[in-house]
Amino acid sequence: MNSTEAATYLPGGVGRSSYYVGSRPPRLVRASGYQVQDEHGRWLVDANNNFAVLALGHSNEAVTSAVCDAARDGACFGLPNPWEEQLAEMLVARVEHAEQVQFANSGTEAVMTAVRLARSLTGREKVLGIAGSYHGSSDVALAIKSGADKAAQPDVVTVPLNDVSRLETAFDEHGFDLALVILDLLPNYAGFQPVNDAFLERARQLCDEHGTLLAFDEVISFRLSRDGLQSTKAVSPDITVLGKLIGGGLPIGAVLGSESVMRPTNPLSAAPIEASGTFTGNPISIRAGIACLQQYDEAQISRLNGLGQTLLVELTGQLPPGWSVRGVGSLVRVIQPERSASLPTRHAFWWAAYQRGFVLMPSGLMALSTPMNEEVVGRLAQAVLESAEEAASISREQESPIH
Ligand code: PMP
Repeated sequence: MNSTEAATYLPGGVGRSSYYVGSRPPRLVRASGYQVQDEHGRWLVDANNNFAVLALGHSNEAVTSAVCDAARDGACFGLPNPWEEQLAEMLVARVEHAEQVQFANSGTEAVMTAVRLARSLTGREKVLGIAGSYHGSSDVALAIKSGADKAAQPDVVTVPLNDVSRLETAFDEHGFDLALVILDLLPNYAGFQPVNDAFLERARQLCDEHGTLLAFDEVISFRLSRDGLQSTKAVSPDITVLGKLIGGGLPIGAVLGSESVMRPTNPLSAAPIEASGTFTGNPISIRAGIACLQQYDEAQISRLNGLGQTLLVELTGQLPPGWSVRGVGSLVRVIQPERSASLPTRHAFWWAAYQRGFVLMPSGLMALSTPMNEEVVGRLAQAVLESAEEAASISREQESPIH
C-alpha cells in the first residue's frame, strides 16, 4: 500500500493527531537503539522516542525479552497476574508519598481516574490546572489545555503558569468547589518552564486550607529522576499520575497515592469508583515496565540528563533571533518565535531536521535515550541549528514585503 492509499483509511493520513506535521508524516517501520528506520529504508536519529516514552531507546534487549516472554505466556488474563504487584511495589518504592497503585492503559486514562478519585473523596466537581498544560485527551484535560472542550469547561478552572496571585484569586472564587489541582511540574505546552517553588508551595497550602487534593502529573517528567521530578521539590502531592516510561514502550498509566487516598478504587470500600479496563494491568505492559525500570537506575538517569545538558549548552545562544531553547535533564525544547509559529511554515523546522536525518517532536521537544552518546548529541545539536536557520529564513522570506 502506498501513502496515498493509506490516507483513504486514516483521517488526514495520521493515526493520531499529535504526530501531524503539516503534511502527511513519513512512516516508520522499525527501530533499534537511538535510531528509527522509515519506509524508504533510511535510518534516522530518534529524538522523539515516541513522545518521551523510550528513555532506554528502541528494542532494548531486556525489555524485548520481557515482552516476548509475556506474549508467549499469554497476552492477557481475566484475573490478576503477579507482575502487577511487583511493578506497583517498584513504583511505591520510588514515589515517596505513595502506598498503593491503580494501573490504567494510558496517561489519559490515569488522569481520568485521578479526577474521579478526587471527586469521590471530596464530593466536589471542579478541577484546577495550569492554562495550556496537556494532561491527555479526556474532556476535563482538554478543557485545561485550551478550553476547547465546552462540555467540561464549567468544571475546569485554569490559571497561568507560576501566577500565584491568579491562583489565590481562583481559590477565593472556587476553593470550596475544587476537588483537585493537577500540575505537570514541567508543562510542555504551557511553555516548558518548570512550575516554581513559590507556586508549588502556595498550591499545597491552598489545597490544604480548602480540602482540595493536589496531583502531580509526572507522565513525562518521571524520566528526569529515579523518584520522579517531585523528589527534587519541597512539596509532595496527594496523587501522582504516571505513564509513558513505566510501561517500557507498551501502553500504560498509573495513579499513585496513600492507602486512604486510593480507597475509592478499592472495590471493598463503602463507595467504590469504577477503576477498570479490559487491558489494565496486562502482563505485557507490566513486564515491559518492570524490565525498563530495573535498568533505568540513578547512574543511567544522571548520564542521560548529562547528555541533555550537553545539548542545551550547544544550542544556547546559537539559535536564530527570536528562537530560544529550554531544557531540564534529558528533555530539551527548541521554541520558535510566535510569528513563525503562526505561519504555514511552522512545521518547516521539523521537516528540516527530518531531512537531515533527525526526528523531533512537532512541538520542538526532544527526549534523549540512553543508547545515545556525546557524538550523537553533537550531531543532533548541529542538525537542530541548521534546521532552525533554514526554518527562520523561510519565515523571513514569507514576511518580506517583496513577496
Ligand atoms: N499527561 C502528560 C503530562 C502528558 O504529556 C501526556 C501525553 N503526552 C498525558 C498526560 C497523556 O498520556 P497518554 O498519551 O498516554 O494518554
